[in-house]
Amino acid sequence: MYPNLLMKRASLTPDRVALRFNEQEWTFARLAEEAIEFAEKLHTKGMEKGMRIAILASSNPKLIVVMHACMQLGCELVLLNERLSEEELNYQLADSAPDYLVVDDYNKRSLSFSNKYSFDEIENVGRSFFEVEKDWTKERTITIMYTSGTTGRPKGVRQSLENHVMNATGSALNLGVHPNDCWLCTMPLFHISGFSILMRSVYYGMTINLHTKFDAEAAIKEILSGTVTRMSAVAVMLERMLTVLESKGLSFPNTFQSVIVGGGPVPLNYLERAIERNIPVLQTYGMTETASQTTTLASEDALRKLGSAGKPLFFADVRIDGNEEIGEICIKGPHVTKGYVGAAESTNPLVDGWLHTGDMGYMDEEGYLFVVDRRSDLIISGGENIYPAEVEQALVKHPAVKEAGVTGKLDDKWGRVPVAFVVLKGETSEEELRTFMKKQLAPYKQPVDYYFVDQLPRNGSNKLLRRELFNYIKNT
Ligand code: ATP
Ligand code: MG
Repeated sequence: MYPNLLMKRASLTPDRVALRFNEQEWTFARLAEEAIEFAEKLHTKGMEKGMRIAILASSNPKLIVVMHACMQLGCELVLLNERLSEEELNYQLADSAPDYLVVDDYNKRSLSFSNKYSFDEIENVGRSFFEVEKDWTKERTITIMYTSGTTGRPKGVRQSLENHVMNATGSALNLGVHPNDCWLCTMPLFHISGFSILMRSVYYGMTINLHTKFDAEAAIKEILSGTVTRMSAVAVMLERMLTVLESKGLSFPNTFQSVIVGGGPVPLNYLERAIERNIPVLQTYGMTETASQTTTLASEDALRKLGSAGKPLFFADVRIDGNEEIGEICIKGPHVTKGYVGAAESTNPLVDGWLHTGDMGYMDEEGYLFVVDRRSDLIISGGENIYPAEVEQALVKHPAVKEAGVTGKLDDKWGRVPVAFVVLKGETSEEELRTFMKKQLAPYKQPVDYYFVDQLPRNGSNKLLRRELFNYIKNT
């Protein structure tokens, strides 16, 4: 058993600030009180222990209260991504089959789900008492979260209390917990990157400074004012902050401890520019199935191990499958999911206790992990392995290239050959790019075709969908 996280925290440090949003503040005592009040109203509407409640809402303080309320009631939360299309949301609702759906605003979406209430409808009913549990079982499912759907249909991942707590423990043992820590949360709360900040907050007694969405100028202003010490981001967010800082000739203050950057590879160029701006970047490798980080690179290693995602956190174990240098990354530890719900329920992600991630990577002789690419995107050309990420990274080094996406085209002679999709930010030609690429990569890795496009296909998490690039060339 673990303690009821919010109640334990509210009893330990009731007056400490749990949440800051614009000018408003919530102490842990106030957050606990509001969560119980809302839980009693959910109870009046028929929700109770063991039920599954789907939530669709923007990141704001009310959502945090609602999430805690559902946890207090003993319900499983299905966290829906508000950036998804109606079709995608309806799929996840059908797949996870929740008992109720709770939304912040009906006007946003028309969803084919009948048992639903808005935050206001719940707010306006009376309270009905339920017994708050002092302890929670660690096997209890806290959240069901869908993967980003980069390689196929999103899968509903079951994240237990133990998964979340052990993830937060591993992170704390790596970063340390300081009494004045305040985490800037600009990542969506429905995604593991945002939700894990909420878990750390109640577990460590740490303040969250919440922004409804990421805005580089607003984030920088917050950091320069010295009120926040940590932040989570993905590579494009880091790039936007760098551009703003560079244009104004600014750097981060020493009060700022670190920004954790994950979700995908971070181009080396960003890491070098971050050093110039006094931004300690901690590269991390995480996924929905591991309730966020598995490995994180310590900032003192950032330069020496440029491009690595670091070492496994205290409770995490990582191995590379197979006998080659590069193989599938496999993960073990108490932060790893026990499995999926819905359509993916029958696919056990664990083999002999190891999570097979579908990501390819290698570990260097000192035990640092380097994530290379997704296994499903690997291009095998005349028996040689080509990782699209490597070709994309080479392309974006050209000053006129903003973004690049690479996939393998079917080829009679070689099996597959790489082709490139390029979004430009400056003047260049196909010929110039070919010459540029020849200096960087071996002949068999050279894209045979170049497509110049306005944008690349991305999903709700802004991840590149290479399978759509593949379908595009297959159909032309
Ligand atoms: P789906 O599983 O539905 O295809 P997804 O894997 O993109 O979607 P997430 O769980 O949101 O869904 O993302 C985890 C994935 O993000 C990892 O498996 C990995 O491919 C990628 N990733 C995360 N961190 C890194 C990193 N530091 N470097 C490279 N890739 C990373
Ligand atoms: Mg995945």
